[in-house]
Amino acid sequence: MIRRPPRSTRKESSAASDVYKRQQISSHNEFEHEKVYYYEDHKSGLKSLIAIHDSTEGPAIGGCRFRTYDSFESGLNDVLRLSKGMTHKNNIAQVPFGGGKGIIFKEGKKSNEMMKSYADFLNLLEGKYISAEDIGISLKDIRFIKQHTEYVFDNVDPGPYTAKGIFYAIKRAISFSLSESLVGKKIAIQGAGSVGSKLADHLSKAGAIVYISDIDNSKLKIISDPNITIVDNAFEMQCDVFSPCAVGAIFSRSSIENLNCKIIAGGANNQLLNESVADDLHAKGITYIPDILINSGGVIGLTKDIMGRNEEQAESELMNIAIRVEEAMAIAKDQSMSIQAALKLN
Ligand code: NAD
Repeated sequence: MIRRPPRSTRKESSAASDVYKRQQISSHNEFEHEKVYYYEDHKSGLKSLIAIHDSTEGPAIGGCRFRTYDSFESGLNDVLRLSKGMTHKNNIAQVPFGGGKGIIFKEGKKSNEMMKSYADFLNLLEGKYISAEDIGISLKDIRFIKQHTEYVFDNVDPGPYTAKGIFYAIKRAISFSLSESLVGKKIAIQGAGSVGSKLADHLSKAGAIVYISDIDNSKLKIISDPNITIVDNAFEMQCDVFSPCAVGAIFSRSSIENLNCKIIAGGANNQLLNESVADDLHAKGITYIPDILINSGGVIGLTKDIMGRNEEQAESELMNIAIRVEEAMAIAKDQSMSIQAALKLN
């Protein structure tokens, strides 16, 4: 059982950031967070950052990433942006939790010692942040970490929930924007991981023409549905919907020149290199559905037990994602602007 600390009543100043080992994180151009913690354990090789953006609504929740970063600064940027996104996402998904995120600097192999060390880090925070998986961290890792801390969500794999929410949203977005059904629509998915592969299955079963790409061939080899076509680069495909389900920051003023789709709707976090790209996409006539609006299925799955929801209730929450997407599209259409601008998500 996850222990929930009392709700914080005020936002602490950035200067009050805590340090557990070595590094003090108290200022940064993106810093508007309650706390950022850095933890380093020489023995296990763990170097990790946990950012708590806002815990007004409850303890911060969000996944932990294990990936290579060019520098400490780029890891810090990632954790700051992602944790802020989690606050917005949890708020939009109406789950009573704050926004947080963890990252582990990948400088070698992941090991049980390192995961145990991450559990120690979580224990130090005493439930202010509850971790799930993200890129490079699997449910298996989380279940191992759970042996050493209670501050993880190990109840479900969030990927399939995220994929289902995106599926419902794409269906609704096509019907709103193109006044047509999903059948025969071309959908190109970038990334065949936990989210992308499940999304491809749902779309294919619903009659869409599905294309998918991944830089890791082993992910593509396991796709057995003959109605899903493997392509070299989903990004450049002429399609109705492009669904980014791999990495963030893929849309910039220059990269979108190669886009050939009507709608962007995918699970990857922080897809825009910077917020102004939303306006550039709008100017090109492409409807960009912001990630925080569409990829909250994972938090709905992770929090379903703690919120006392059964599968049916969780499914209905996933369908609500699509309703919110349609409402957002209608507001943006009314105001002739991007969803990002209309909802003031910047
Ligand atoms: P994953 O690690 O299981 O899969 C990502 C896949 O993308 C990998 O197979 C990887 O090889 C591939 N990839 C990386 N770069 C690529 C590129 N340039 N082109 C094509 N493929 C590329 O991750 P996931 O759980 O499926 O999540 C996908 C994205 O959605 C991530 O950005 C993640 O942060 C975000 N997200 C996931 C969840 C969730 O519930 N899993 C929830 C919200 C957001």
